[in-house]
Amino acid sequence: MDATELVLVLNSGSSSIKYQLLEPDSGIVAASGLVERIGEDDGRIEHVADGVTTEHRGPVADHTAGLRLIFDTFAETGHDLTEQGVRAVGHRVVHGGEVFYEPTLVDDAVLASIRDLASLAPLHNPANALGIESARALLPGVAQVAVFDTAYFHDLPSAARTYAIDTKVAAAQGIRKYGFHGTSHEYVSGVAARLLDRDPGEVNQIVFHLGNGASASAIRGGRPVDTSMGLTPLEGLVMGTRSGDIDPGIIAHLMRSADMTIDQVDTLLNRQSGLVGLAGVNDFRQLQRRIDDGDEAAALAYAVYIHRLRRYLGAYLIDLGVVDAIVFTAGVGENAAQVRADALAELSPFGIIVDPVANTAKNRAARRISPEDAPVAVLVVPTNEELAIARAAARLCG
Ligand code: AMP
Repeated sequence: MDATELVLVLNSGSSSIKYQLLEPDSGIVAASGLVERIGEDDGRIEHVADGVTTEHRGPVADHTAGLRLIFDTFAETGHDLTEQGVRAVGHRVVHGGEVFYEPTLVDDAVLASIRDLASLAPLHNPANALGIESARALLPGVAQVAVFDTAYFHDLPSAARTYAIDTKVAAAQGIRKYGFHGTSHEYVSGVAARLLDRDPGEVNQIVFHLGNGASASAIRGGRPVDTSMGLTPLEGLVMGTRSGDIDPGIIAHLMRSADMTIDQVDTLLNRQSGLVGLAGVNDFRQLQRRIDDGDEAAALAYAVYIHRLRRYLGAYLIDLGVVDAIVFTAGVGENAAQVRADALAELSPFGIIVDPVANTAKNRAARRISPEDAPVAVLVVPTNEELAIARAAARLCG
């Protein structure tokens, strides 16, 4: 494959960088991998190219060192990115605030704005900015494109994006529903429309992105009209380590009665809640094994998870009025047949039926799991955020 046809996609987290080198038209992946534990002594890279996995261990000081390690490992396995070049680098950026709502070519001013948005996404945007900065230094002259997780939801209807708090405070602090996982919701809803052989502009869908983070969206004719995540990715569904919706009064109560600091509450809700808070595990497969072993806490966590899913399903059914498709994606959504069956159980009066054989069939492709003649198509669509980012980056570079 000619390297100048390929796009490098980077997803820089606070202590990790995930990456893929891929051809945006075909989606063929030339290489992919992960650097983890950046900033610690026991850093690690796992790099997969041409079916061969290469692993190195050792300290990785910072994001620049992490990216250099990625480039060195590429060179070692026959892709010298600095010599051969790439068409563009696409960066996943979590928060675009009110400023960014489409893929954006990065220059100094854009990078500074991404950093400024750290107040809205303190865990994510600084790391995203570091990834961009390092890639610019290592590949000068190559277009760097930022693709924002919030962008797809920028034009949510005002009734859906507005929190019922003092408007002066909200305006001063940039408080509104932004929504996240937008690249995934947009991508899978597009694939779903094609699977139904329909124009996306004609299809109403409810999309459940159920991974370690989880979100739902209601999409009318290709445009989102509501989504479950909010100002931050904490709102909405029960997630691996995040609570999703709670009574906001809990925060004041914990600070007053349990003497917790705001950082402790933040950590509690973002890292020690959700499935891990309820059952001690955030990995869904482990949760399922515990349920099978008769663990009551795990069973309750699962029940809470499904209860929340169904509440959003009900709300979005009413929002949309007519629903053509319900779509499941991401690690849990694509793999956990039981979740799909339980989330949609006993909804045949609404035209929602899951075919148990299709639902449990071993199949990794985008597929329909409802009977052909059921009024609502229930679909499983594997997400591919890297491909969507690569395509956006390639489009922007012409
Ligand atoms: P993601 O964030 O999209 O990578 O999804 C991660 C979540 O998907 C984790 O909770 C995994 O346990 C879950 N997951 C992955 N494969 C399966 C599977 N075969 N069955 C159930 N859950 C799965």
